Amino acid sequence: MDPWQKQLMDGVVDCSRIAERFGLDVRELQLIADRYPLRLTQHLCELIEHRDDPIGRQFLPNLAELRDDPDTMIDPLAEADHSPVPGVVHRHPDRALLLVNGSCPAYCRFCFRKGRVGTGDLKTSFSELEQACDYFAGCRELQEVILTGGEPLLLTDLLLENLLARLRRIDHVGLLRIHTRMPVMLPDRMTDHLVELLRRVQPLYLVIHVNHPRELAPQMLEGCRRLAESGVPLASQTVLLKGVNDDVATLENLFRSLLRNRIRPYYLHQADLARGAGHFRTPLAVGQRLLGELQGRLPGLALPQLVVDLPGGKGKVPAHTVSPGRSASGRVRFVAPDGCPVDYPDLAT
Ligand SMILES: *Cc1c(COP(=O)(O)O)cnc(C)c1O
Ligand code: SF4
Repeated sequence: MDPWQKQLMDGVVDCSRIAERFGLDVRELQLIADRYPLRLTQHLCELIEHRDDPIGRQFLPNLAELRDDPDTMIDPLAEADHSPVPGVVHRHPDRALLLVNGSCPAYCRFCFRKGRVGTGDLKTSFSELEQACDYFAGCRELQEVILTGGEPLLLTDLLLENLLARLRRIDHVGLLRIHTRMPVMLPDRMTDHLVELLRRVQPLYLVIHVNHPRELAPQMLEGCRRLAESGVPLASQTVLLKGVNDDVATLENLFRSLLRNRIRPYYLHQADLARGAGHFRTPLAVGQRLLGELQGRLPGLALPQLVVDLPGGKGKVPAHTVSPGRSASGRVRFVAPDGCPVDYPDLAT
């Protein structure tokens, strides 16, 4: 067993241990854990200095998760409606998501799949992965497959290698991508063996989910350095989260550090309308203002695109140019990639 697998098994799931360590109420924790999965890695526990610091807020449960805000949904992006075969979300002709794994080494409290990850709902069996590959082989317009989850890098090297090799054999799929948060949650997963495996299946982009500069721990950056030096292109995505990274200094520091470490900031996501995560949302105007300020401070290479993933699975759209809503539940009219108008429930500033 690799050290990372041992660390995974030592993951912290016990409410009383978490309550004691971070000064939380164990009954409250239990109440939340009964509804949404709870899990931390030792690495994250060490990064959390205080329950209200930017790491604590992302990973420690909060009673606000039990509020059912009216605009929030269990499947805000209607992924189930865009799933031609189990484990696949196919919304754009040229690229598709493959949900290879329904669990994560730790659960982000703001996750847009939070009603479904860690519950068994998104678990994709080996035979379903095979069926997904057959489906991709039959889609002649498809050019890119994006492995996501849950956490795709929870697969063993052997399974991952087989899956990637299988996808590589589909002629029209010229590009592969993996969306991961593993470098932040369990940096020891970036073993030499994994780096070598990802080097061999190039071209493959690794897109790392990072929200705060404190997530860039030394072990994490060291793993990214080895990936970059092996020729694995790295990019990042960040979710804009109230109380975590919704200020210009934090984002400037984050994007600058990412770029310096050869991780190209790709997307800054407006938080999705996920049930149990409404307390992380920011008004559209906040993201727009932050991005506007960053434009004057950062090189273009360090600037991600601000995007909203439209409710109902209408797709991702750039958000810096739309006019924000003004009333308390001001609806904002977006034009989806297919040309249809979509109303988005903005928050009041
Ligand atoms: C986000 C997403 C993609 C990838 O979109 P990019 O803009 O290429 O990063 C593909 N399919 C679905 C369903 C998505 O939600
Ligand atoms: S790592 Fe991704 S899928 Fe897993 S809980 Fe966090 S946001 Fe959700």
